[in-house]
Amino acid sequence: MEADQIVIPEHLKPADGRFGSGPSKVRPEAVESLRGVATTLLGTSHRQAAVKNMVARLQEALSEFFSLPDGYEVVLGNGGTTAFWDAQVFGLIGKRSQHVVFGEFSSKFAEAARMAPHLDDPQVIEAPPGEAAIPEPSSSVDLYGLIHNETSTGVMVPVKRPAPGAIVSVDATSGAGGLPVEASEFDVYYFAPQKTFASDGGLWIALCSPAAIERVETIAASDRYVPPSLDLKIALDNSRKQQTYNTPALATIYLMLQQLEWMTEQGGLKWAVERCAESAEVMYGWADASPVATPFVKDRQVRSNTVATVDFDESVDAQAISSALRANGIVDTEPYRKLGRNQLRVAMYPAVDPEDVRALTTCIDHVLGELGASS
Ligand SMILES: *Cc1c(COP(=O)(O)O)cnc(C)c1O
Repeated sequence: MEADQIVIPEHLKPADGRFGSGPSKVRPEAVESLRGVATTLLGTSHRQAAVKNMVARLQEALSEFFSLPDGYEVVLGNGGTTAFWDAQVFGLIGKRSQHVVFGEFSSKFAEAARMAPHLDDPQVIEAPPGEAAIPEPSSSVDLYGLIHNETSTGVMVPVKRPAPGAIVSVDATSGAGGLPVEASEFDVYYFAPQKTFASDGGLWIALCSPAAIERVETIAASDRYVPPSLDLKIALDNSRKQQTYNTPALATIYLMLQQLEWMTEQGGLKWAVERCAESAEVMYGWADASPVATPFVKDRQVRSNTVATVDFDESVDAQAISSALRANGIVDTEPYRKLGRNQLRVAMYPAVDPEDVRALTTCIDHVLGELGASS
């Protein structure tokens, strides 16, 4: 049967069919709540109390959620994680950085540092897709560029300082809020709201230690040229006034705050970590048991609890599965485009119900049956 002709019975389907790794499922309850501020918050000045109070709430909620020690600050700006890589190239790397690279996102930060004329070439420690690269203590670098979860491959690593001294900066865009972390192990933990925080894109948020703030101030006082929209000192000064340098998307901040408050009510980071782990058990347990599927990441220790990647036998066309799912309203299970594998990728962020992940596996089995594969 043609993949997009396959009909999945309603009773098998997940309550919510969004499994994309970013943008990811936004909880309908958060959108309903947004309606409630349609005339009081949306369309009002980001330099006035209504919006500044919301930003203050976001900063406080993040400090509490991540148990930030005194002196850590929540800094935010526009442009998403990608812009924050460039901001670090200008305002956080002193002279030379070290990067772990094991997928598309980690490689992009390393490349941004390599291209910068004012920096020495970075040290790059690479591992093939599906594995994790381990940072190496080095006295010749002043920043370690780490990643909590490589979204393109579904590999997670624990956040740990490689060595004392250098700034430890962690891209946690698809890990923050779904994977465990201790603030003492990082100086900068940064992300954007459209993945684990179930909001929209366009913003970056960085949890910064006193050492990171000191580095920002030192570089700002030097004669290095920094474009204002990527200037971390300007971002810091604005964040301290509950603002951003230029206009942010108010709905994005609002939806993120909704998600954060919801997760806090459910039990905070611990709850969210357990929920993602439960989804991961369902997904990988299914793949292990399936005669045609296997988890792409071989080492269980680094197999992601927030983004699952599942390979299929040559006997099955994974693209046909994702097309059939899509035709039935179950969307964005396609693998990362540049990885080029016969694979499905499934986000298991805190907004996603583990029961929906279970239903997804049932739907995949149904599709496999219809496609004529043994399942
Ligand atoms: C999605 C993602 C990015 C890019 O985020 P943007 O907000 O689109 O710039 C960077 N790093 C990781 C780990 C991601 O998952």
